[in-house]
Amino acid sequence: MVIGGGFIGSEIAAALAINGKSVTMIVPEDGIGARVYPPRLSHFLTEYYRSKSVTIMNKDGVENVRKDGRTYLVRTKSGTEIRADGVVAGIGIEPNISLAKSAGIQVDNGIVVDEYLQTSHPDVFAAGDVASFYSAALNKRIRVEHEDNANTMGEMAGKNMAGQRIAYRHLPFFYSDLFDLGYEAVGELDARYEIVEDWKEEFREGVVYYLEAGRVRGVLLWNTWGQVDNARALIAEQGPWNKGNITGRLPA
Ligand SMILES: Cc1cc2nc3c(=O)[nH]c(=O)nc-3n(C[C@H](O)[C@H](O)[C@H](O)COP(=O)(O)OP(=O)(O)OC[C@H]3O[C@@H](n4cnc5c(N)ncnc54)[C@H](O)[C@@H]3O)c2cc1C
Repeated sequence: MVIGGGFIGSEIAAALAINGKSVTMIVPEDGIGARVYPPRLSHFLTEYYRSKSVTIMNKDGVENVRKDGRTYLVRTKSGTEIRADGVVAGIGIEPNISLAKSAGIQVDNGIVVDEYLQTSHPDVFAAGDVASFYSAALNKRIRVEHEDNANTMGEMAGKNMAGQRIAYRHLPFFYSDLFDLGYEAVGELDARYEIVEDWKEEFREGVVYYLEAGRVRGVLLWNTWGQVDNARALIAEQGPWNKGNITGRLPA
């Protein structure tokens, strides 16, 4: 049983199914990745998972999980009861900021750092999932829960702690693999943005652009490889971008 249809839920469900496990996903939204992918892609993915024998209970939530002997009884909001050998909840994380808080360090949806990854205490630096930093590329303060950010930021924080003065300007990418589909992505993937889908082969290979006020906020490189830096460059460009002039920009 997998609770949640976001990055973690969809990845683990695919991994379990590939390993021969019988998987049920409870997804509160319309479908897998509905908050991130365009609705048609989310719908395709949901049906694709079903074709791989994953049971998907969309538009449902978890009311209760109870241990019953060696198994678990999961009751959904719609009243269905499912017995499972194991339950994985992929329902988001909360940064552990209690230590920073008790030390009097500024926190705000994470530990607040400046461009050198220094916290409000000059001897304390923060990096990775927990750090809230200003992204020059996106012109806003963000907190990123992905590996590339953690690795790059960690290295930079270490260098700055050792006396260097390097500003963190990296726009991290992230990736995921879902059965035989895979992608890399940069920036903000939010299904509420204006979305331009540019498919070479529908839902199999293509690029999805997330636009706001003529700027590119995020790029989803669906089975499209080696384009992360080009996507970063596009996000940095002023535009204005629209469906007409962005279609066909990537792969460059
Ligand atoms: C199941 C799963 C799948 C993922 N898949 C992907 C993926 O496909 N692609 C991707 O880009 N990212 C993925 N991620 C995200 C990625 O793993 C994280 O972004 C990355 O691990 C963050 O690194 P971090 O060092 O900031 O935090 P963590 O790896 O969480 O490390 C933080 C460490 O600090 C310790 N800690 C916390 N508080 C204290 C304290 N008070 N004192 C001492 N120690 C403390 C914790 O115990 C932990 O060891 C995935 C995450 C999960 C959970």
